[in-house]
Amino acid sequence: MAALVSPSSLVRIRPRRVAKAKTSKPRSPRDWPGQLRESIRSVDQLARVLDLTPEELEGARRAEREGLPIAITPYYLSLCDRHDATCPVRRQCVPRIDEAHEVPGDLVDPLGEVDHEVAPHLVRRYPDRVLLLATDRCAVYCRFCTRSRIVGDGGGPVPLDRLEPAMAWIAAHPEIRDVIVSGGDPLAMATDRLDRILARIRAIPSVETIRLATRVPVTLPMRITTELVRALRKHHPIWVMTHFNHPKELTPASIAACTRLADAGFPVMNQTVLLAGINDDANVLETLFRGLVRARVRPYYLLQADPVRGTGHLRTPIAKGLAIVEQLQGRLTGIALPKLICDTPGGKGKVPLSPDYVVARGEGTTTLRTFRGEAVTYVDPPRE
Ligand SMILES: *Cc1c(COP(=O)(O)O)cnc(C)c1O
Repeated sequence: MAALVSPSSLVRIRPRRVAKAKTSKPRSPRDWPGQLRESIRSVDQLARVLDLTPEELEGARRAEREGLPIAITPYYLSLCDRHDATCPVRRQCVPRIDEAHEVPGDLVDPLGEVDHEVAPHLVRRYPDRVLLLATDRCAVYCRFCTRSRIVGDGGGPVPLDRLEPAMAWIAAHPEIRDVIVSGGDPLAMATDRLDRILARIRAIPSVETIRLATRVPVTLPMRITTELVRALRKHHPIWVMTHFNHPKELTPASIAACTRLADAGFPVMNQTVLLAGINDDANVLETLFRGLVRARVRPYYLLQADPVRGTGHLRTPIAKGLAIVEQLQGRLTGIALPKLICDTPGGKGKVPLSPDYVVARGEGTTTLRTFRGEAVTYVDPPRE
């Protein structure tokens, strides 16, 4: 067929078509450093790739000046609807002017992490586990970020010597059995740097498990390379805590990333944040949770959104999460049904929330309501 087209017509027509396609659709690098290099970070770049609403444009201008910066990988951008501002992926990464609005209950540090810092970059809120904030960088800055007070502030990965006081604290507290490496996103760091951090934690004999809290499988799935899993698996047992919020994020690439992790022996757990207008719907969450289970990812927590300053437009009332869980109970296997959690303001710890299935308590009897709505009485064993 090509032989029928004269070389002169190719020269005249093709370059113009190619040039047009390039301006409307940014190419998406296949490698992760390329993705980070070509991420959207400014209002101008954002306005070129999406039809911004006035609320988004104003919000993006504000984010560029103050508050949480903008970062969107070309990959994550490709999941955003160019024309529809209600797109559930777009709403997670494109700022709106509502971020300037403070509502009652809003806090700069909703989980009281500053007050619970036991060493630099180390937060302790529970008897047996700690949270290590190893970097302030993420591949994508989520607009509902609980740590918007510190992420993307320019510090970058914390040098290993500056994590040493945290390591010494953990070593001096053998009751700590679990270290959650977070940030920022630990998988946004170079592999050798992360490798060294994990080796340092593993040198503390009282630490049993390490967790990596990362959104990279969702926002930068090409980061999960064979080289990465080979470097990390040396430090097993490592659990990967990831963060899918919407079924649109379950793409062939993100599923492949989860599969690679699962194949390398990492249990993969998912924490979904309940977000107004994005995923506060039983059918949307059912699709998400079923998709995760198919990808061998366990839906672990469904988190009530933290009252981070400037995120009131993304939060739901507590009753909404309870109603959704009630709709999903029985409809979904326990494997696919996460625990609904409110991480209490002030950093007092996570509290599980559950619809009330106890309808009456008697002397040695409890009457329960099943997922179909029947009342059934359980009789306790006789007391001696
Ligand atoms: C959420 C969190 C944990 C982990 O909680 P789990 O219920 O064990 O998953 C640990 N430390 C801090 C500071 C946290 O915020």
